[in-house]
Amino acid sequence: MIIQNVNIQTQQPAWWFIFSHNQLLQIETAPGVPNLPASLLDYASHHLEQVTQIGEYQGHPCYLIDMEGEQPEIEGTEWLSLRHFLMRNDQELFQIAARAWQVAVFLRTHRYCGKCGSRMHRIDWELATQCPSCEHRCYPRISPCIIVAIKKGNQILLAQGRHHQHDMYSTLAGFVESGESLEQAVHREVMEEVGVEIGNLRYFSSQPWPFPHSLMVGYLADFKAGDIKVDGHEIIKADFFDFDNLPYTPPPFSIAGQLIKATIEGK
Ligand SMILES: [Zn+2]
Repeated sequence: MIIQNVNIQTQQPAWWFIFSHNQLLQIETAPGVPNLPASLLDYASHHLEQVTQIGEYQGHPCYLIDMEGEQPEIEGTEWLSLRHFLMRNDQELFQIAARAWQVAVFLRTHRYCGKCGSRMHRIDWELATQCPSCEHRCYPRISPCIIVAIKKGNQILLAQGRHHQHDMYSTLAGFVESGESLEQAVHREVMEEVGVEIGNLRYFSSQPWPFPHSLMVGYLADFKAGDIKVDGHEIIKADFFDFDNLPYTPPPFSIAGQLIKATIEGK
C-alpha cells in the first residue's frame, strides 16, 4: 500500500520515516523511528504536503518524508544509515523502512522524463511518475538478484566477495540479466563466479534488499561437477566448508544466513 497526497490525521500517532541524504531519522536511545502525531513532530507538521503513506505498523500509519539534502537537528533523534536500522529493528519494521527508502530514491531519480526531458508529474492513485508531454510513465525500479546455497555432502560452498566485510564468507549472488530466467541466472552466475556446475535447483524464498533496490531470490542447489575456480573480480576466495566448521557468515535475518541454515538442516 503506497498512497500519495494522504489526508493525515494530525492528532493520531504515526510512524515517521524521514530521510536526509541516505540516512534515516532514528530514535537516539531506542530502536525505531519517531511514533508521534504529526502535530507533535515539528518537521512533519510543516511538510504535510510532501508525505507519502507507505504502509501500517502496529495499527498506525507509516509516512515517508524525504528531506533530500536538508538535515535538521531534531531533539532525541539521530541520523543513521538504513544498515544501522537493520541491525537494531525487527524484520517487519525494517521492510517498511526499506520500502520508504526505495520510494524516496524513485522520486529523487524520476524528476524528468527519460524520453523527452520534461518535468515529470506524480500520479496520485498509484506510485508512478508520468510525463505530461509524451505520457511516458515510470514505476519504482526493482532489480532481481539471485542468491544460491550449494551443497556437497556435508559441505556448503561459500565465497568471499571483493566487497565483503570482516572476512565474511557468503552464498553466491548476482543480478539477473535482461532476457534471462531466474534459473538461468543462477547457473550462469555460479559458473562465472566459481566455475562449477550445479543441479537440483529449488526455490527457497525472497527478500527485498534496499541497497538500493534489489529483490533477492533465494535458491538451494546441489553441487554437480567441476573444480572451484574463482573469477578474481567479484569473488576472491571460495571453498567447500564442513557444516561444523564454518567461517564467519551473514546473520540469520539476511536471506544468505537463512539459506546457509536451511542447507545445514538438509532442506
Ligand atoms: Zn516525456
